Amino acid sequence: MKNICILGSTGSIGTQSLEVCESQGFRIVGLSAHSNIELLAEQVKKYCPKKVCIFNKEKYEELKNLINDINVEILTGIEGLISLASMEECDVLLNSVVGMVGLRPTLAAIKAKKTIALANKETLVTGGELVMESAKENGVSILPVDSEHSAIFQSMQGNNKSQVKKIILTASGGPFFGRTKEELESVTLKDALNHPNWSMGAKITIDSATLMNKGLELIEACWLFDKSPDDVEIVVHRESVIHSLVEFDDNAVMAQLGVPDMKIPIQYALTYPNRFKCDTPRLSLTDCKNLTFFEADEDTFICLKACKEAIKRGGLYPTIVNGANEQAVELFLNGEISFLDIGKLVYGSLSIKYDVDDFDVDDILIADRLAREFVLSKK
Ligand code: NDP
Ligand code: MG
Repeated sequence: MKNICILGSTGSIGTQSLEVCESQGFRIVGLSAHSNIELLAEQVKKYCPKKVCIFNKEKYEELKNLINDINVEILTGIEGLISLASMEECDVLLNSVVGMVGLRPTLAAIKAKKTIALANKETLVTGGELVMESAKENGVSILPVDSEHSAIFQSMQGNNKSQVKKIILTASGGPFFGRTKEELESVTLKDALNHPNWSMGAKITIDSATLMNKGLELIEACWLFDKSPDDVEIVVHRESVIHSLVEFDDNAVMAQLGVPDMKIPIQYALTYPNRFKCDTPRLSLTDCKNLTFFEADEDTFICLKACKEAIKRGGLYPTIVNGANEQAVELFLNGEISFLDIGKLVYGSLSIKYDVDDFDVDDILIADRLAREFVLSKK
C-alpha cells in the first residue's frame, strides 16, 4: 500500500496514473488541475484525497461548490502545488503537470523526502542540477515516467552505471517525419496535433512534431543518468516499439520494448523494483514485422539543434530554450504564429544574454521570464 499524490491529475499522464493506482490498490492523498474543475471534482469524489489544488484561483469557488459535501482541503496556485507535493501523508509524488511550473513542487517534495515519479520533464530541463543535487542530499529517488527514460532506467538495472558508454534515445519522428522546410510552411495546428503513435496532451504533442520533445528529453537524460550530451545519440524509430537503449563499454546494447502505452512506464515508476500485471496489450513482434531507424533531421527541426546547443552551453540556456518553447507553443496553439515560427523563436532565444554562476530557483524563474518576453516581442 502506497500513498500517492498526483500533480496534474486531469491530464493525459494524470488520468492514466489514476487508473494504474486503482489497479494496484494505491491510496490517492492529493490531486491537482489547472482549470478543469469538472474532472477534478469527479476525481475528488471517486478517490477522496486529503488535499486538492486548483491552480487557477478564479476556479476556486466553482470547485468548492462542486465538492462542498466532501471533506477535502482545497488549495490554489503555486503555493497549493508546493503544499500538496510536500504533504505528510504522501509517499510518492507523481508530477505530471505540464511546463516548468512543475519545478518548485518537485524541489519541495524532495526536501520533504518523498520518492519522485517524474513525468514533468521540464523540471529536469530547467532545474536539473538543483534537483539531482537535492535528491542526492536527501536520499530521494527520482524514478522516470517518460517512456524513453524509463526504458533507459530499465535497461540499466543490474548493470554498473559507470560502464554505460552511450544512451540511445529513440524518437518517433512525429507527424512530419521526412518533410522539408518548404513542406512545413503550410502545416496546420490540426496536422501538428495528429501524432502517429501516442495520444498525449497538446503541448507535448506539438513538442513531438517540432522534435523539441526529443531535445528536452536529451537534456532530461543528461541529468538523470549523469551523461554529457555527446554521449546521447538520437535515433528516429518510427514504430515506437523500442523505447530507448543503453550501450555499455563492451559494446553490448540493452533495450526495453513494448507497445506504445504510457501505463507501462507509469506503473514501473510506481511499483519499482517490482513488475506486476498491467492491463496493456502484449507486444507481438511478428505483428511489428519491420523496425526502422533513421537519423534525425536537425536542420529542418531546429528545436532539437537549439536544445543540444543549450545543454552544451549549460547554465541557464536549457531554461531559456524551454521557456521560449513554452511561450511559442502557446502562441501556436492559439493560432498566433506558424509551425515553423516555433523553431525560429526557440533557436533565436539562444541570443538572450542571461547567465549567472551558481544559479538558484529565482534565477531560473528570471531566465524563463526573459525567454517568454523574447518570444512575445518577436511574434
Ligand atoms: P496534459 O496537458 O494532458 O495535462 C497537464 C496537467 O497539468 C493537467 O492536469 C493540467 O490541468 C495541469 N496543468 C496544466 N498547466 C498547468 C499549470 N500552469 N499549473 C498547474 N497545473 C497545470 O499533459 P500531459 O499529461 O500530456 O503531460 C504532462 C507532463 O508529462 C509533461 O511534462 C509532458 O512532457 C510529460 N510527458 C507526457 C507524456 C504523455 O504521454 N502524455 C509522455 C511523457 C512525458 P487542466 O486539465 O486543468 O488543464
Ligand atoms: Mg518521451
